[in-house]
Amino acid sequence: MRTAEEYKADLYKMKPNVYIRGKRVSRNSTELSGGLNVISKTFELVDHEYFKDLLTAHSHLTGKKINRFTHINQSVEDLMKKQELTRKICRLVGGCIQRCMGCDAINGLAVATYYCDQEHGTDYYRRFVEYVKDFQERDFVAACAQTDVKGDRSKRPHEQDDPDMYVRVVEKRSDGIVVRGAKNCITMAAIADEILVVPTRAMTEKDKDYSVAFAVPADADGIKIVSRTTKLRAPEGFEMPQSEIGDDENLIIFDDVFVPWERVFICEENRYATLAAHLFALFHRHSYTGCKPASTDIMIGFGALISDFNGVYDRPNVRERLVELAATAELVYAAGVASAIFGRKTPVAFIPNEVYANIGRRHAGLNYYRELEILAELSGGLPACLPFAEDYLNPELRPLIEKYIKRRKDVPAEHVYRCLYGISNILCSSLGGVQAVAGVHGGGSPVMEEIMVWRSYDFEKRKEIAKYLVGILKEIPPP
Ligand SMILES: Cc1cc2nc3c(=O)[nH]c(=O)nc-3n(C[C@H](O)[C@H](O)[C@H](O)COP(=O)(O)OP(=O)(O)OC[C@H]3O[C@@H](n4cnc5c(N)ncnc54)[C@H](O)[C@@H]3O)c2cc1C
Repeated sequence: MRTAEEYKADLYKMKPNVYIRGKRVSRNSTELSGGLNVISKTFELVDHEYFKDLLTAHSHLTGKKINRFTHINQSVEDLMKKQELTRKICRLVGGCIQRCMGCDAINGLAVATYYCDQEHGTDYYRRFVEYVKDFQERDFVAACAQTDVKGDRSKRPHEQDDPDMYVRVVEKRSDGIVVRGAKNCITMAAIADEILVVPTRAMTEKDKDYSVAFAVPADADGIKIVSRTTKLRAPEGFEMPQSEIGDDENLIIFDDVFVPWERVFICEENRYATLAAHLFALFHRHSYTGCKPASTDIMIGFGALISDFNGVYDRPNVRERLVELAATAELVYAAGVASAIFGRKTPVAFIPNEVYANIGRRHAGLNYYRELEILAELSGGLPACLPFAEDYLNPELRPLIEKYIKRRKDVPAEHVYRCLYGISNILCSSLGGVQAVAGVHGGGSPVMEEIMVWRSYDFEKRKEIAKYLVGILKEIPPP
């Protein structure tokens, strides 16, 4: 397994193909340091007493000890450990650990490539296994690029006016394929070793050119990563772990990128491209049942702390709001647990249950802005109006700011200031804004989960129950 320093050293050696604010930058740009701090936690904590059992696993392919973010889940226990790890580690980095996408992609591709080979006699799974062994050995960090730019949302890939609205194969050669198109909203691509590309939607026979999944180094020729970075900051002398975090959301342009066959995992098999799209989303929604409760944990913590400092922690209105937050967190988490318990084993991976993973992610997505609303309500207006930390640290102003920010007598004013600063980071920062939109759309907008639940939930069985209860059906329906 790599150390955080080795991970960063490998990144800094990559070709500069990242663009930020009009400039092409190296990966050691300070703009990217917030995201690097987040990902680094997944390396730094592998030996930590609280995390070592969660953050490591044994590869079912090599038997070696590996980072869990490179593991293919084999059991209920694996899925539950991934979920628990995600919740616990996300709490330490303000909400999103950013390394789950690549992990969820390799899990989805393992199953899709295996079943594709079973039906078509292709060779994808063997290639994929070789790739994953290397992925695990080199402890790779991967972005998953699923979301195509999509153009006119009412049209399928082959119906678009511009054929490049979905990533597609423009040339098939004896040694590989050439791909063109773009993926947007791709988290942490600027700080990833690898980009794993999977289709974004179901593909029809006519969408064969778009039915493609593959892996490329993030600095492969022809790739441009246009990065929108956000980073929290606190001035010198005002250290707080929350202020070291950030993220990058990226437009990845594939400008005729060559991919050798050993890195191509699906090419033209539209049904298995559809399965890969579906399974990445399923594994990723299961991951959301870990990370979203962590975001809620953070909001509960700040909401409870400021209420405590304000002297109103035990008031019924505060209790009601905190219990509402706890109910959201634990229902989403419970959906993930159920999704693992009712998951299913395939010959190559253990898959979460579809209904529970999707309702869990949907419930989280529908509630994120409500959670922010509760935190804003409990915190009062000051998170939006708090003097800058530089002013708080100014010796002339500090005693005055402390005097006028004071709440309960026994709580130091600095604790109140720090708490409000942390809440401001959630409610009023650009990163907080990104996380809120991610809360709704990341992993698939609620409408996408509704489509999946509509397809996989047994509504007919419920109709039978209704028929039985009113005597239309005379026999007891199958339970
Ligand atoms: C912060 C953040 C991080 C993300 N990280 C990643 C990542 O790492 N990897 C990745 O692949 N993706 C990522 N995503 C993308 C995410 O999965 C998408 O935003 C999501 O799937 C919605 O797609 P879209 O943004 O293109 O929205 P759109 O497709 O534009 O959808 C917007 C809305 O339009 C409506 N709509 C769209 N199409 C239809 C239709 N056919 N019929 C009816 N209504 C429709 C729905 O109401 C939908 O909610 C991220 C997103 C965010 C915000």
